[in-house]
Amino acid sequence: MATLVFLEHHGDELLKGGLGVLSKAASIGDEAAGVVVGSGVGALADVAGEFGAARVYVADAPELEAPLPQPRVDVLARIVEETNADAVLFANSVLAADTAAGLAARLDAGLNWDLVDIARRDGKLIGTRPALQDSIYADVGWTSTPQLALIRTGSFDPAATGGSAEVVDVDVRLEDFSTTARMIEQAHEESEGPSIEDADVVVAGGRGLGGPENFTLVEELAKALGGAVGATRAVVDAGWYPYSTQVGQTGRTVSPKLYVACGVSGAIQHKVGMQGSGVIVAINKDPHAPIFEFADLGVVGDIHQVVPKLTELVTQRKSG
Ligand SMILES: Cc1cc2nc3c(=O)[nH]c(=O)nc-3n(C[C@H](O)[C@H](O)[C@H](O)COP(=O)(O)OP(=O)(O)OC[C@H]3O[C@@H](n4cnc5c(N)ncnc54)[C@H](O)[C@@H]3O)c2cc1C
Repeated sequence: MATLVFLEHHGDELLKGGLGVLSKAASIGDEAAGVVVGSGVGALADVAGEFGAARVYVADAPELEAPLPQPRVDVLARIVEETNADAVLFANSVLAADTAAGLAARLDAGLNWDLVDIARRDGKLIGTRPALQDSIYADVGWTSTPQLALIRTGSFDPAATGGSAEVVDVDVRLEDFSTTARMIEQAHEESEGPSIEDADVVVAGGRGLGGPENFTLVEELAKALGGAVGATRAVVDAGWYPYSTQVGQTGRTVSPKLYVACGVSGAIQHKVGMQGSGVIVAINKDPHAPIFEFADLGVVGDIHQVVPKLTELVTQRKSG
């Protein structure tokens, strides 16, 4: 089955989300082809080959430099028409969601969104979609081709296979109406350390911290462990920490090797964003907090006492 995977890039790097979807598509036996769209992006095709792409379509033109959806819809629609692709998969992002929706409208195709898994059963593509506040998983399908899917962040890890892809240059022809929107300004949030989705360690703070000033406890532990800081919705809503760090149903999905939850109750909406973590450590003063039901290691105690000691121990170990 010929499957296209939209590979978003930031600067000269392909994003992990798209590479994860590409690896997954290749692993279920699809002939997976990556699509790279931008300006000066030719070199990125080689990276896609290493993650399972048999072929990479490269649309490289100055008018594709800005990360705007409509020109990407033009490029993808053309590739779908020329290749008769059965499926087009996207790793969720603002750009990917806009592009996927535009492509669905252009091709009159069905789009399943927020999928956390895909599989082939009897040759048919089946998606898995959490429902009822992520408490159940539903199988979803498509009634026509191409089958479009938007996959939840962090669902698949990129798997390097060391392969190489055939590179196909796309003749870029944009519709007049696709070039009317212009990017006026782009801003990048400056942050130290790894991003929350890429980090091997995430230390998350919840309302148990008692106030925004106490987030330094979480930040110091994250720094000592070489990880990123996460937050619950309760603290984000209270304005203690930025939304970009929110883990959960309405935030990010993360799957680090180690997740340390400090003063986090473990509500279902938080759990769904971090339950794929390797080892979950919870520090909470309430022994009946729901997080202890799914933590691998639980510390019943006051975070104001436990967390600084833990940071000190980690720092000592590293310098020792
Ligand atoms: C539609 C919907 C979507 C949602 N999406 C999200 C989401 O994406 N992410 C998310 O996180 N939530 C989400 N929520 C909110 C979620 O239901 C919870 O309200 C939220 O996760 C609770 O955050 P919390 O654990 O920080 O706070 P609380 O539930 O108030 O828990 C604080 C915890 O800290 C402990 N504590 C207090 N003081 C200390 C101390 N000194 N030492 C140690 N422990 C202490 C308490 O025992 C308690 O367990 C969503 C809710 C809805 C309805």
